[in-house]
Amino acid sequence: MNPNVRPVHYNIHLYPDLTTFKFKGTEEVLLRVVEPARAIEFNGLEMKVLSAAVTVGGAVWPVKGVSENAEKEAFVVELEKEVPVGEAVLKLEFEGEINDKLAGFYRSRYEYNGQSYYLGTTQFEPCDARRAFPCWDEPACKARFSITMTVQKDLTALSNMPIKSETTEGDLKTCVFDVTPVMSTYLVAYCVGHFEYLETTTEEGIKFRVYTVPGKKELGRFALDVGAKTISFFAKYYGIEYPLPKQDMIAVPDFSFGAMENWGLITYRETALLCDESSSFVAKSRVAYVVGHELAHQWFGNLVTMEWWKELWLNEGFATFMGTKAVDHLFPQWQVWTKFLNDHVFRALRVDALRSSHPIEVDISVARKVDEIFDAISYAKGASVILMIESALGEEPFRKGLNIYLNRFKYGNAHTEDLWQGLTEGSGKKVSNIMDPWVKKIGYPVVTVEETGQPGKLKITQNRYLAAGDVKPEENETIWPILLGVSTQSHPDIKYVELNTKEAVIDVDVSSNTEWIKLNAGQTGLYRVQYSAALFKRLGDNLSALSARDRAGLQNDAFALAIAGSISVVDYLELVSKFTEETNDTVWSDIFANLAVVRKLFDSPSMEKFVLKLVSKIGGELGWSGKPGEDESRSSLRGSVIATLGAVGDVAVIEEAKKRWTAFLSDKNSLPADLQSGVFYLVAKNGGEAEINQMIEVYKTSTLPAQKVTALRSIGSSRNPELIKKGLEYMMSEEVRMQDRFILLAALASSKVGRDICWDYVKQNWSLLEVKISHNLLPRIISYTCEDFSTPEKAKEVEDFFSQHKVHGTERTIAQTIESINSNTAIHSRNVAQVSKYLEQFN
Ligand SMILES: [Zn+2]
Repeated sequence: MNPNVRPVHYNIHLYPDLTTFKFKGTEEVLLRVVEPARAIEFNGLEMKVLSAAVTVGGAVWPVKGVSENAEKEAFVVELEKEVPVGEAVLKLEFEGEINDKLAGFYRSRYEYNGQSYYLGTTQFEPCDARRAFPCWDEPACKARFSITMTVQKDLTALSNMPIKSETTEGDLKTCVFDVTPVMSTYLVAYCVGHFEYLETTTEEGIKFRVYTVPGKKELGRFALDVGAKTISFFAKYYGIEYPLPKQDMIAVPDFSFGAMENWGLITYRETALLCDESSSFVAKSRVAYVVGHELAHQWFGNLVTMEWWKELWLNEGFATFMGTKAVDHLFPQWQVWTKFLNDHVFRALRVDALRSSHPIEVDISVARKVDEIFDAISYAKGASVILMIESALGEEPFRKGLNIYLNRFKYGNAHTEDLWQGLTEGSGKKVSNIMDPWVKKIGYPVVTVEETGQPGKLKITQNRYLAAGDVKPEENETIWPILLGVSTQSHPDIKYVELNTKEAVIDVDVSSNTEWIKLNAGQTGLYRVQYSAALFKRLGDNLSALSARDRAGLQNDAFALAIAGSISVVDYLELVSKFTEETNDTVWSDIFANLAVVRKLFDSPSMEKFVLKLVSKIGGELGWSGKPGEDESRSSLRGSVIATLGAVGDVAVIEEAKKRWTAFLSDKNSLPADLQSGVFYLVAKNGGEAEINQMIEVYKTSTLPAQKVTALRSIGSSRNPELIKKGLEYMMSEEVRMQDRFILLAALASSKVGRDICWDYVKQNWSLLEVKISHNLLPRIISYTCEDFSTPEKAKEVEDFFSQHKVHGTERTIAQTIESINSNTAIHSRNVAQVSKYLEQFN
């Protein structure tokens, strides 16, 4: 946008019509004219500007004309003569559509008492406020907003602020909302529809509500309780009161992402907000985390906002980290910092191991391009880097630094450097020196550790880690500042050693030279560790002495090193075979995920036996029924163990799953939620058309959002080509919401037979998919269908197809997908002979 004028205050009056799905609006923007202006430019997309008028000091300033620049997603009001520096008012009338694109002002459909209804809602981040009203749609163009809505009188209208006054005339009512604080356009929100709500008040007296479509409010009780406590937690943690007089959270049936942190009116996908006491641990912990994440943004992101999308990670990395902190505070028994490894750190390490990754801070010239960086790098790597800095500074200095930063920039915008400055002042340590390479450079290191022959002295080397395993010198120039956590058999308390060079010899506390030594102890660092063969074996033989986090880290590093070819897949399997005594759900969940990858590449009956032998002990201990008062995490582990046992052909487990399914069909309360995912999957995988139809019925009729998703995913578990094709047809039918189509596709493409069928389908129906899948979800369609292929022919096919079918905004995903296929191909050919020989012993 031309910086000659800046918005100060928007007065917006909207007239949405939920029968024609059109809206009209009038807008008066108080502008600060910074330089004499002959033209006023603002953003607007897929709307009509019906009239424009300008006044200066109350006097009409003649307008020459209004023109649209569709490419810039903007309009220009040309003036007869220059507006001088000072204040001016721009008055506009406009109209647009309540669309089906899950972006801008859009509609969402739901059923109630057998009838279909629509509600209207908004999704503006990153740059779709311009679809809903004319605006300066950039995060740094902060202004106040006075919003008024005229709607059918039986509907509820919500916005960022509480309603100040309401008047009725005929069938319509007009709701005037209080003026907002100074804020960015992407955080403005409004909803209109038939809603119901639950209400509470936080400890500090903030009115707090959870809204749903009719019939669902009771499913919001858990989120209401968690949310109110989380607001109080953050107010204390940040040392700054919650900035608005109210907070609403609303579950929207059609929603593209997980949730959106609109200030004072957070919107959610139903699965991210609604659950009940009977819901699975996975469903409940997701709700608690997403609520924590969005509420963290109310300060970090909303009160203080990144200057431009290039620093998106500041918002997302931080909210991811803080969301976890809030859940840990409310539910210490859940051990979410261990789970954080799986959900965020390992995920970041996986994506950032590709050449087609990007630095955390990435140049974004056009706002539209930011869609593709709402990715694992911004969220997961961002959060992992923040965990690293907190552990380097200490919790309290970190919190103090954060408070300095938020107070300094409140109601304004800030850069990454500003956060480092705050943290430096809070801790007395120069933070930018430590953090810059982690934020500005692509990738991360693998630390190689060898014994020197002298007791207590280790040789350490750091190099860039790439999944492809072929790092070139020019890709290996970064020296990462590493705070190396070390723990040893005789001195298990973690000691930190600073590593600021490519190579070093470090001292470690050991009493003998046969001790185990764990590096990255506590797993707060974002790097891999490769041990000498002797050190690696010693750790594998002493798993019970390590913490769950360290066991998870050791195993995940070994898997990554096998991917890169630094060790063999057999070395990895040998380590994993020592985990038979494991009891931690996070550790198992990562082992299951990694073994699923290994099984995709080396699928064979002997591989299934290997997994069966590994899991049988914990499977026997957990059985099918929980003990009274057992941990939720243990109950959740039971579900995934059963799914794994059944997946590798445990006949007794499959039979029991079928029995439980039959019982479930006649009594929906008979199957504990934690078992549902495993049972549904095994029944669909081993059943026929009848079971798939039953699954579709559960999907259609279930009132529990998480159970619906579980059923949908299970529809995709069949290995029968005809049923896979039927699944694809179902995916595109009106019964599956656009936001959920990729969930079914991911399941359908998870087997070898399914992958080929899905890929054929995607190729043949690409133009249909472009219409039926919203633009921001297309990257997932590409990666879920193709990333597990493992031959050079497929890599070429994918490359050729997408070079002929270009979609703006999917370039990075395509590059990452092709790189994954090439990596799979290399792992397979390098290991196939050795793996089958190793697995023979399990026959
Ligand atoms: Zn977020």
